[in-house]
Amino acid sequence: MKIIKSIEEWRYIFKKHKTNGKTVGLVPTMGALHGAHISLVGHSVKDNDLTAVSIFVNPTQFNNPDDLTNYPETWESDVAKLEAAGVDYLLYPAYEDMYRDNYRYKLIETEYSGDLCGTARPGHFDGVLTVVMKLLNMTKATKAYFGEKDWQQFQLIKDMAETFFIDTEIIPCPLIREKSGLAMSSRNKMLTTEELERAPLFNKTISSGKTIAEMKEELTSLGFKVDYLKKKEGRIFGAVFLGKARLIDNVKI
Ligand code: AMP
Repeated sequence: MKIIKSIEEWRYIFKKHKTNGKTVGLVPTMGALHGAHISLVGHSVKDNDLTAVSIFVNPTQFNNPDDLTNYPETWESDVAKLEAAGVDYLLYPAYEDMYRDNYRYKLIETEYSGDLCGTARPGHFDGVLTVVMKLLNMTKATKAYFGEKDWQQFQLIKDMAETFFIDTEIIPCPLIREKSGLAMSSRNKMLTTEELERAPLFNKTISSGKTIAEMKEELTSLGFKVDYLKKKEGRIFGAVFLGKARLIDNVKI
């Protein structure tokens, strides 16, 4: 696996691969990799000649500075996992290289991005869409892979790619859970042992078939701080705080 910091080098390499007719799969991540990231990588390796993963903790999508400071980092184990999964290229750019304009230009969606996770996190999806657009443009990937844990993010990215005539096909990947039912997330690393034992009750509660009001009450009594719970598109979407972590999940009704 080739590890690249320079965006110019990355662009040069992927232009060459495109000219040579190679298909490229892109898996954007923020690192602190777990099984779900590796399952996205697996889809890409299976579908494409080459797989590229980016690790970039994107500051513009963090509306809470503490969340950014506390975001877990596990570089050495990330590299080992990606090597083992058969990744060809890893990009880890610096903020200054990614945001040469210091975020003077941004990409904004004006409807859906204010719903669900966007309600309490103003500007979050502006940061997500902007960085994903940059990654798609600099890689010119054939396909890019996104997880359905971040359902709203996937929909917004898919619509963005269509809206701006981006050639990359945006591929959804199923939500991966721990055996306990807890959705895998880098933020689970921020939980204490006791919180980690309690965390699966979030999924259990939103899968219970109770009303939204009952679920809210139950989660609150279990020590979760509910950000939102909402029924939409035949699914229940939710975000809760537990200790230092904000956890999200969604289930089909
Ligand atoms: P992140 O590093 O959290 O930004 O996630 C990188 C990619 O992995 C995104 O497309 C996420 O939706 C996806 N992802 C993270 N956790 C899961 C999960 N438990 N199941 C499926 N996809 C996931």
